[in-house]
Amino acid sequence: MNRGLAATVIALMLCARPATAQDLVADTAAVRDRAIADTTAWDVLESLTTEIGARPVGSPALARARDWAQAKLKALGFTNVHAEAFEAEAWIRGEERAEVISPYPQTLQVLGLGRSISTPKGGLEAEIKLFKTYDALLAAPPGSLKGRIAVVTQPMVRTMDGAGYGDANRNRTRGAAEASRRGAAAYLVRSLSTDDTRLPHTGATHQAEDAPAIPAAALSVPDAELLERMVARGQPVRVRLNLQSRTIPKAPAWNVSGEIPGLTHPEEVIVVGGHLDSWDPGTGAHDDGAGVAITVAAARLAGVGSPRRTIRVVLWGAEELDDSGEAYAVAHRDEAAHLILAAESDTGDGPVWQAKLPKGSRDHLAMRAFALAVGPLKVIQSREPAGIGGSDVAGLNALGVPSVGLTPDASRYFDLHHSADDTLDKIDPADLAQSVAVWASFLNAVAHSDIDFRALAAP
Ligand SMILES: [Zn+2]
Repeated sequence: MNRGLAATVIALMLCARPATAQDLVADTAAVRDRAIADTTAWDVLESLTTEIGARPVGSPALARARDWAQAKLKALGFTNVHAEAFEAEAWIRGEERAEVISPYPQTLQVLGLGRSISTPKGGLEAEIKLFKTYDALLAAPPGSLKGRIAVVTQPMVRTMDGAGYGDANRNRTRGAAEASRRGAAAYLVRSLSTDDTRLPHTGATHQAEDAPAIPAAALSVPDAELLERMVARGQPVRVRLNLQSRTIPKAPAWNVSGEIPGLTHPEEVIVVGGHLDSWDPGTGAHDDGAGVAITVAAARLAGVGSPRRTIRVVLWGAEELDDSGEAYAVAHRDEAAHLILAAESDTGDGPVWQAKLPKGSRDHLAMRAFALAVGPLKVIQSREPAGIGGSDVAGLNALGVPSVGLTPDASRYFDLHHSADDTLDKIDPADLAQSVAVWASFLNAVAHSDIDFRALAAP
């Protein structure tokens, strides 16, 4: 056989998988089994957290992560590997210190929030005004917080689906703006955390557009409770807060992309991924090294045997201050009609317990093959259709690209999220492998079939 003919025969053998409905079911189950035994995700995550570590926008580490990601995708066999540059907001932490001055002097553990402004050098000293709920802050009249440090200590509730974070989110993201509108000089919020360690959890906040920007930080959970007890004793509590940081409005960032090309319909593209940037205190293991590792490993497993469609993995470079999804949607607007689906894994290592499928697709053979494969992994099929598939794909979803929700168990995630404890040792290899198996089964069923989510969703 000459070399050209041999290549053709091999290509035909590869594209033969899977030929029938039963083949798709059996093949998806086989991909699931291979995924459970596969260590690619762990290896990727171990490499990212060890060789790069924390990688916020504006740091030299993000540029190193860009190079790491391209080298890793190439080494794992992805093609068309490249980095798409854009500009993103960067917030860079400097010196931080907080302490009670009176009546019971002691230090407090805090972490500045993204978009906080700096206090004067050496700090700002003021009496605190403490609110046990966010609604109590909202009820404070205009001007009533003049010169005070506003403090909100509402706890976050632990839930499997992350609803507790959704509920408490405004405490961090909106509290500084609401405090400033009422005259506050600074804002402290009890960390959005379900743990009781003395490590604060950072995250982004928004400043008011109609009031001055103010310094803002998260208190550790025990320190929020400490302030509650001091205030309950009745004397004014004075705090000194020294928060230094700098903002770069347009810092360089990158969305890194790689593909497993489709054999017969390469122009039909499935987009999945995680975000490459992270907050600075930990090493970004759960948020979102896990999402990076899960989707890279799953795409590779589903890409065995030349799928008919292209699987593209995108590692978004500026999620935490919300810039990479929009940059990606703008850059890829013209191909949105060819994108079969877009989804992001961004809630830690798993395990996945629920699948929300694209509207109207539950009874399609490909989704039946997926459901059959992941039933034994304890994944239920929600009757609710998928909503937005992650903050980095929200822009694509708004352009009409369908999504899927593969919901991880978030019960432990918010013990670690955005804190110094978000490190590799907190990753459960079995949970990680289960997540890879669910994503790989889904990708296999979509990439090796002709399921058309848009047509199925049409009324
Ligand atoms: Zn994240």
